[in-house]
Amino acid sequence: MAKQGVKRRGQRKIEDVDGSGRPVDLDVLQSLVTEMLLSLGEKPGRNGLRKTPERVAKALAFMTQGYQRNIDHLLNGALFPIEYDEMVIVKDIDFFSMCEHHLLPFFGKVHVGYLPNKKVVGLSKIPRIVDTFARRLQVQERLTVQIAETLKSKLNANGVGVVVEARHLCMMMRGVEKQNTVAVTSSMLGTFRSQPQTRLEFLKLIRRGSVGDSD
Ligand SMILES: [Zn+2]
Repeated sequence: MAKQGVKRRGQRKIEDVDGSGRPVDLDVLQSLVTEMLLSLGEKPGRNGLRKTPERVAKALAFMTQGYQRNIDHLLNGALFPIEYDEMVIVKDIDFFSMCEHHLLPFFGKVHVGYLPNKKVVGLSKIPRIVDTFARRLQVQERLTVQIAETLKSKLNANGVGVVVEARHLCMMMRGVEKQNTVAVTSSMLGTFRSQPQTRLEFLKLIRRGSVGDSD
């Protein structure tokens, strides 16, 4: 039975889901986790595991809640007209995502910069945009581009730069077992792409020590 469920879900196209994701079916997920424990040679009935399927299902639902979020709803009422046309930077945004190849976490920091074009977004919304895309099954490259393109199009910004630095548990715990490797991806749009000076200013500002750091 469970197998059929997997097949049906496998056909769902999730690339372009934007806030129209179906609610997670916790019951199906739970029974799949029980199956998984059995396949691993475990005894799902033993004490420590009795509530594990329920916990895992809820954790997975939480970690993929980005499918239920809609960027337009998120930005509703949070865009402000303004004459400011200098660079806006929000750096060191923590994120946690899951790689779509192994369903293992990858996590790190996102740095975002943009050059406004008569419009800015409430600063607190930028981490929420990051979260919306991070809390889906992802690859780091796509996560980076989705954040950049969303800001570019929703703000009509003159330029956008996004840099993502992340560690991948699928690299650290298995396969190549490179413990200290950090993968860095970037997406530069508009003036951040066409003007090396703008790009350099952005990269310089995100490299600078955080507020309060001694260096
Ligand atoms: Zn992976």
